[in-house]
Amino acid sequence: MNIQDFGKKYVFMPDATRGAVRFLTTEQLKGTGTTALVTNTLHLLMNPGPKRMLELGGIKKLMNWDGIVLTDSGGFQVFSLIHSGKWKGKVHENGATFHSPWTGDVYELTPESSIDIQIKIGSDILVTLDDCRGTDLSREDAEQSVDRTIKWAKRCKDHFENVYGGTKETGKLLSCVVQGANFPDLRKKCAEELTKIGFDGYNFGGFVVDKDGELVIDEMKAVIDNTPKDKFKYAMGVGKPEDIRRAAKIGYTVFDTVLVTRNARHGTLYSSDIEDEVLRITNQDYSIDERPIDSKCDCYTCKNHSRAYVHQMLKVGEATGMTLATIHNLRYYQRLIEDLNAGL
Ligand SMILES: [Zn+2]
Repeated sequence: MNIQDFGKKYVFMPDATRGAVRFLTTEQLKGTGTTALVTNTLHLLMNPGPKRMLELGGIKKLMNWDGIVLTDSGGFQVFSLIHSGKWKGKVHENGATFHSPWTGDVYELTPESSIDIQIKIGSDILVTLDDCRGTDLSREDAEQSVDRTIKWAKRCKDHFENVYGGTKETGKLLSCVVQGANFPDLRKKCAEELTKIGFDGYNFGGFVVDKDGELVIDEMKAVIDNTPKDKFKYAMGVGKPEDIRRAAKIGYTVFDTVLVTRNARHGTLYSSDIEDEVLRITNQDYSIDERPIDSKCDCYTCKNHSRAYVHQMLKVGEATGMTLATIHNLRYYQRLIEDLNAGL
């Protein structure tokens, strides 16, 4: 895929948090039809660190991955770990200062350092540092988060342009994050201000579902309606198959979720043979079921193994079970994306 065409078609990116999709080799990942992945700036910042990553030629060389890599800014993890008190640190006007829970080393995550780290990782698509917070924000908190997000996005863009020469010199894209919590007018304001600065993509930040698990469609529409039509829109963390279909309908083309692989490891598989698409493979019924997980699936698992085999492997905690389940779930999502691209 040409990087400039990213997001022109629907794309689903699994999370390769530490540089791998858990339980899969890069070859197995490619076999699911995956063309792009998301990796985690914070994890790679601490291990192996940006300097080592640069010496090793970047994440793509290290993984032997010729697809696209999108890095997050690191902000979401750092802020949530600090806010929840799990990590020692402080969020401030310039980003965050925090201590590694393993080594005690002190790290600074600022708009500029976030861009530097993402460049060293060798990402194709960078994300600006944004001020992300918890759920149920007051209007005052949401306004502060929007103001900071805009300010930091501008600093990221200036740094990307002034130090690295921007897209022209690097061939990389820079996307931003739209905040505004559950206030559509703040989402609109944030989207408009970020559009004035100008980015290659606009990502829906914060929480995409409400407390009942429903997509926040009004807020999501406010971002679509107030950002340039020709730039990609990324619904971060979306989500369940039906949520991807709903978000696609209103204009989002880029998706990622940890659910697809996490569910696989816990035996929650997807199947078009089941009415609500969810098949809990560890249920006793499947212990003697010789059919594939999904009769329409063309993945390695469905072509070669039965529900009974995957059931047994997961029941006994065999790593092969995790691999087979992950391959199937990822392929299910990539088939969903292929259907969307075919207009189905
Ligand atoms: Zn399958």
